[in-house]
This record gives sequence, C-alpha cells and structure tokens, in this order.
Amino acid sequence: MHDIVRQYIDHPEMTKEEYILLLQQEEDPEAREAIRREALRLCRKYYGNRVYIRGLIEFTNYCKNNCYYCGIRRDNRNVNRYRLHADEILSCCREGYALGYRTFVLQGGEDPYYTDERMCALIRQIKAQHPDCAITLSIGEKEKETYQKFREAGADRYLLRHETADETHYRSLHPPEMLLSHRKQCLYDLKELGYQVGAGCMVGSPGQTLANLADDLRFMADLQPEMVGIGPFIPHHDTCFRAEKAGSVKRTLYLLSIIRILLPKVLLPATTALGTMDEHGREKGLLAGANVIMPNLSPEKNRKDYSLYDNKICLGGEAAQSIADLKKRVESVGCRIVTDRGDARTEPLAREEQEE
Ligand code: SAH
Repeated sequence: MHDIVRQYIDHPEMTKEEYILLLQQEEDPEAREAIRREALRLCRKYYGNRVYIRGLIEFTNYCKNNCYYCGIRRDNRNVNRYRLHADEILSCCREGYALGYRTFVLQGGEDPYYTDERMCALIRQIKAQHPDCAITLSIGEKEKETYQKFREAGADRYLLRHETADETHYRSLHPPEMLLSHRKQCLYDLKELGYQVGAGCMVGSPGQTLANLADDLRFMADLQPEMVGIGPFIPHHDTCFRAEKAGSVKRTLYLLSIIRILLPKVLLPATTALGTMDEHGREKGLLAGANVIMPNLSPEKNRKDYSLYDNKICLGGEAAQSIADLKKRVESVGCRIVTDRGDARTEPLAREEQEE
C-alpha cells in the first residue's frame, strides 16, 4: 500500500499533488479498505452508530438557472413544473413530524415566486408549528441580506453544493452568467451568519479530473462545512449531458471515506443518487463513513417531476413513509436511526456511547 494512505490518515491536510496521489489509490483495494476503516472509526467516535434522518421536501421545480447537468434547468421544456404552496409544505412537515422527522430540508430550484417575504413567512410558520425541529434550506444562491432574513426567520442550516472548486470545470458545467466566485462567497456568507453549512459536489460529473477533486478537498478543508453532500453524477435525458457516463459508486464511496477523515465531525449523507446507482448504495455509504439519510417527504403526486437525473428513486420503498424498510436497511449494516435534530457535533461521544 502506498505511503500516502498512512500519511493522509495521520495528517489529512495535504497539498493538491498529495491529494491527487491519494485519489489515485482508488484502484488499490487495500488502500480503499484502510481509508474506509479509518473513516468508520472516526464516524463511530463522534456519532456512534446513529444515523440521522432528514425529511426532504422538494417544494418547487421551477428554476431560473440553466445548469447543464440538471434535469429541471430552465430550458428543459419537458418538465411538468409545480410548486407547493405553504399549506401543502406545512402538511408535509406535519406528516414528517408524526413519522419522527426533526429536520425538514426545503429544497427547490431557484424559483422567483418564492420571494424573501414568502420564504420568511414559510420558515416562521414551520418553526411556530415545530419549534423543536431544524430547518435546512437548499434553494441556491442569494445575496447575504436574504440569507440573513432567512436566518432571522428561523432557518438553521443551508445546503449549497459548490459543485466544483475549479474555475474551468465550473465553466464547463454552467452557463456564463453563473459564477463560481459567487457560489463560494455564498458559502462563506452563510457561515458568517451562523448557519450550519453544507457544501459538496457530484462525483464523476462530465470532465471531472482527479485534480478537480483534489481542489474540492482543499476547498472543503478551507471552508470547514458542517455538512457535505456528494453523490454520483447521473445523466438526465433532456440535458446536453444525456450521453455522458454516470459517476461510479466505487469512487463515491472512496470519497465519502476521504471526507469523513478530512472533516471527522461532518454530517455526511448517503445520498439518493448513490441509492439510485446501486440498490444497496446507501447502506454501503453508511459503511464508508456516512451518517445521514434524507428520505423524500414531498407529496407523492409531485415526486416524479422533481427529476434532477434519470431513474431517481422516489416511489414505493424510497418514500419517507416507508420508515420500516429504511430502518431495516440501516440496521442491516449495524446502524440505527435516531430522531433528534442531529446537529453537528463538536466533541467525541462518551466511550460507552461510541460503542453502543
Ligand atoms: N437549486 C438548489 C438545489 C439544487 S438540486 C441549488 O442550486 O443548490 C441539489 C443537487 O443535486 C445539486 O447541487 C447537484 O449537485 C445535484 N444534481 C443536479 N443534477 C444532477 C445530476 N444530473 N446527477 C446527480 N446530481 C445532480
């Protein structure tokens, strides 16, 4: 096994060249296993075998952006557009609450209907009805004043994947009016406003090199996000990337472990995209250092229309309502679902709790 693996485990902050070398070890099963074991050890140290569940409410698929990879991009005329209104969102939350969810993730396209005022009113209503729950927003790039208003209204967390930390690669995935510098600035603004912040990227997005992923790791080391969302890129048939190859499960799992070692206390979801590429993808994710699952709480009738990529799992067994199935899956890999808010931890658990 290459020395770089031991070196990373001992000192995870490394140079770009060293990260590239580490990423190249994906081909060595022994290296992969050493990294996975260390990731799992750290996950147990901070979180034991607890898996946090977040109820994902995909509340609008209108989007003013035109990201080349995304199925709900503005120029895709084949999307059946929908937006949920406040009462529908509140009823998703009520249903989720009864099922044990204590975090609601409001995700959507960048939909101008949802003005700052409408969003703030919605956040306040959810908080008034469920004061013990955390609200996570995932609605893209806004100005700092807007993020501040959302925060004052009661939002706790914000997911905004940086998508790629490399300027040239960013340009190849996004239209000219979108800027990597702005996206990064948003993440630093969110941090400053006291949000728990989630960054992340797709694995195997078109044109992505190991050097790009090395930059992603360096960016995450600098930002120190509380959450990181990564999942394989999956082509969508109505986008210009329809004929591109999907990202690999193997590489996603290797990266999950690498990120757990880089940021031991991070909240790391085993994503829906990972579960879409492999029937047991999310369980494998939990064994690689992930500790969060985000089942779908959106109304059944809208789920198929929030199609970021092809074949997204969202029906039957994937629904948040199928908590029994989820519980079985999580327990099959020695973990257990817990239903507290699950904020990012700052200290290791007590010894007894680590081993529970
Ligand atoms: N509008 C919000 C939410 C975006 S959707 C925002 O801009 O943050 C959430 C994530 O889905 C994106 O950040 C992207 O990383 C991922 N995604 C989009 N298209 C995808 C695809 N084709 N394959 C895999 N993941 C995709």
